[in-house]
Amino acid sequence: MITLQNVSKYFSLGRGQQLHAVDDVSLTVAAETVVGLVGESGSGKSTLGRMIVGLHTRDTGEICYQNDVLPARFRPVDHVRYARHLQMIFQDPYASLNPRMTVFDILSESLRLQGQTDTRAMSDTIADWLTTVGLHPDHMTRYPHEFSGGQRQRIGIARALMIEPDFVVCDEPISALDVSVQAQIINLLAELKERMGLTLLFIAHDLSMVRYISDRMAVMYLGKIIEEGPSDEVFFNPQHPYTQLLIASNPEPDPDTERARSVEPIRGEITSPVNPGPGCRFADRCPKASSQCTTPPPEVIVSEGHRASCHLLAE
Ligand code: ADP
Ligand code: MG
Repeated sequence: MITLQNVSKYFSLGRGQQLHAVDDVSLTVAAETVVGLVGESGSGKSTLGRMIVGLHTRDTGEICYQNDVLPARFRPVDHVRYARHLQMIFQDPYASLNPRMTVFDILSESLRLQGQTDTRAMSDTIADWLTTVGLHPDHMTRYPHEFSGGQRQRIGIARALMIEPDFVVCDEPISALDVSVQAQIINLLAELKERMGLTLLFIAHDLSMVRYISDRMAVMYLGKIIEEGPSDEVFFNPQHPYTQLLIASNPEPDPDTERARSVEPIRGEITSPVNPGPGCRFADRCPKASSQCTTPPPEVIVSEGHRASCHLLAE
């Protein structure tokens, strides 16, 4: 459905400083599957997701949607054309819904962009979708501030899915919500994904929730995908020291899979990938780092469909 080949996005900070937000990333998202994209804040997940739906230009590489190479820079006509197929659900339902518009206005906007004009038909579609996402048709006359965070995210989900896209980037759709609401929203997305045959890139900063909905998981660190594979493989048999620490430092809600908590937390803070050197970007925080980590880490196939980029694995 979606293929990224050597995709990069650099932000120029002036004075020759270049921030490598996404750096030479390749990733495939097969039709009707969910790929979880995880990593700490600042690792480049949103930038990657936004490039796929045309909200960021890209600097290198190719992104394909089915057989189309997507433009590196979307023109207004591309946005309209690809909005039918590629959609995004945002982290912050507060910021992404215009507070001055009613739910009807918010939801009809995307239908209008797709050429619909019949108010009655749009109203029927919107009523159906509000019901589908667990709200009430009467809610269409209300404003965003009249809803809870979870309800607002349901409106965001309706907005993205009502034009029946093939592919949806879900950018931390549950991070801003109460823990009690997070599972409900994940379940709603999982159910709609099945029913509509959707393909999802599901972005999150921790793996524990995401692994329930994801077929595959990709771990990002400072602009690079450092490990990728089937979700259970990555979760239960992590190969990269960063993935291992990320999993160990996560609270695990399921007591059956209680793991050793004695593992040390990840040292220090993620830095900015400004003018990065050729070596492993995790080396300065890695408990297993050695002198060889100043050279580019090799991408190693751990098992079929499971890859990780680390010198330790190449020995
Ligand atoms: P994540 O979603 O994983 O938290 P982002 O994709 O938001 O990460 O950011 C990746 C890196 O790119 C960060 O260092 C961030 O500060 C930087 N960045 C993101 N957007 C911009 C921008 N518009 N201009 C400059 N730097 C940016
Ligand atoms: Mg983000």
